[in-house]
Amino acid sequence: MAPNARLDHRNPLVFDTHELGRRPGALQRLARSVDAPKDLGIQGVIGVPEGAPVELELRLESVMEGVLVTGTARARAEGECVRCLEPLELALEADFQEMFSYPDADDRGRVKAEPVDDAEDDEDRLFLEDGMFDLEPVLRDAAVLALPMQPVCQDDCPGLCSECGARLADDPDHHHDATDIRWAALQGLAGSLGDGEKDEMSGAEAEAGVDEKQEK
Ligand SMILES: [Zn+2]
Ligand SMILES: [Zn+2]
Repeated sequence: MAPNARLDHRNPLVFDTHELGRRPGALQRLARSVDAPKDLGIQGVIGVPEGAPVELELRLESVMEGVLVTGTARARAEGECVRCLEPLELALEADFQEMFSYPDADDRGRVKAEPVDDAEDDEDRLFLEDGMFDLEPVLRDAAVLALPMQPVCQDDCPGLCSECGARLADDPDHHHDATDIRWAALQGLAGSLGDGEKDEMSGAEAEAGVDEKQEK
């Protein structure tokens, strides 16, 4: 966002601090339900669908430097299980805390404090503009932090069959290895049968030999 872009008070994620005032220690609590902005969450993994309700609870505290905003966002996030690829939903509860500084209070405090990293810090710092602040970047960061990077439909999701791609949670008995073991057992049985035949044969020969001896 351009540094001097005007915040639009009609944007549901823009909050006005005029009522709070600038007296340090002043507190204001507010709740607001907003439509989720686009791409709220971890892109391609899990997120709150655009337009879905996001319940916000905020606590604004006036401090010397600006307004300290503490709050929680709650919403339903949707994604898919990284193991079995089934769609999944989870309750997102994201806590956040952010300082929005007064633009006019900024220069005094900062030049002495951190002269080296000014440019970098300025990008991370958030400011009040006309007494308003935009919660959207804060909400986005909080949602990403609160959501799992690798969501699973259940903690012990067994995933997909590596042989045929079947979802193993739907079919716990599904197993190709067992079949392989049975085959191996059959082959082993066949092998021992073969040995047995030889033994019988050699036994028969031995008996025949005995018989021959007996006949002599
Ligand atoms: Zn799963
Ligand atoms: Zn399979």
